[in-house]
Amino acid sequence: MDKIIDLHIHSNASDGSFTPSEIINLACEIKISAISITDHDTINGQKEALSCKTSIEVIPGVEVSTDYSRMLHILGYCFDIHNQELNNKLEYFRNGRKIRNELIIKKLNELGMKIKLDEVLENAADGVPGRPHIAQVLLTNGYVKTIQQAFDKYLKKGAVAYFNRAKLLPDETIRLIKQAGGIPVMAHPIQTGLAGDRLVKLVKNLKDCGLAGIEVWYSAHSDEQTKFYQFIAKKFRLIQTGGTDFHGKNKPDIKLGKGFGNLKIPYSCVKSLKKSNLKF
Ligand code: AMP
Ligand code: FE
Ligand code: FE
Ligand code: ZN
Repeated sequence: MDKIIDLHIHSNASDGSFTPSEIINLACEIKISAISITDHDTINGQKEALSCKTSIEVIPGVEVSTDYSRMLHILGYCFDIHNQELNNKLEYFRNGRKIRNELIIKKLNELGMKIKLDEVLENAADGVPGRPHIAQVLLTNGYVKTIQQAFDKYLKKGAVAYFNRAKLLPDETIRLIKQAGGIPVMAHPIQTGLAGDRLVKLVKNLKDCGLAGIEVWYSAHSDEQTKFYQFIAKKFRLIQTGGTDFHGKNKPDIKLGKGFGNLKIPYSCVKSLKKSNLKF
């Protein structure tokens, strides 16, 4: 059987439901060979993940949203977890979230929903509080029927209670990861909403800024899309990576290593990452 991997996973250090150790145990059970925990704006789960005694390869990872007109997330792999600039900027992003959370709660209160910031922070526990935690509180209090409805009605970009937060431009984000010795990878190209030549143009611009990889395999990518992203990867000599965007119970339809069921991410992704970063 071919070795399978999952290089896009969220733990409870951000908006996933499992601890890094629980994720590693689960990965062992289902015989995944390599994982990366790629939390939003934090590497607080990395130490626990990297220190677990396991035969699974654990690759340092992080996911950063960029300041762009569309949804453009950059994954960073194999960086130095002690890099000062990276740690400083991640803290800056987390502070930006605090400001945004207050604005969102204030707006929801004005719209008649009696939810408190403390409830959201309690729901996030040790994790980086994000919109999924606010959505969960709206659900618990009966203001929406599903998490998705909370996003559609209030929280998604352009909705009534949406507020932007502090982010870096795409080229600055790429440089941030590179200066930490890491490999910047474009996450889930499908979520940019771009296809064909428009996507090719964006990837070319990012490659000119230092992008090193693209997430070809992803839960929501169709076979046709996967093939097209592979074509783009080859065209711009980008490393091909893949991951499910597993969030545990917070996105129950997405299974570790399998996505919606049939995803198989090849081990060759790990080999390519290692080849371009000899430290790992
Ligand atoms: P945040 O970190 O606060 O920007 O929230 C990002 C998280 O919210 C990610 O895990 C996304 O999966 C989720 N999310 C973002 N946009 C949507 C949307 N339109 N519908 C459902 N979930 C979303
Ligand atoms: Fe998330
Ligand atoms: Fe993302
Ligand atoms: Zn993600």
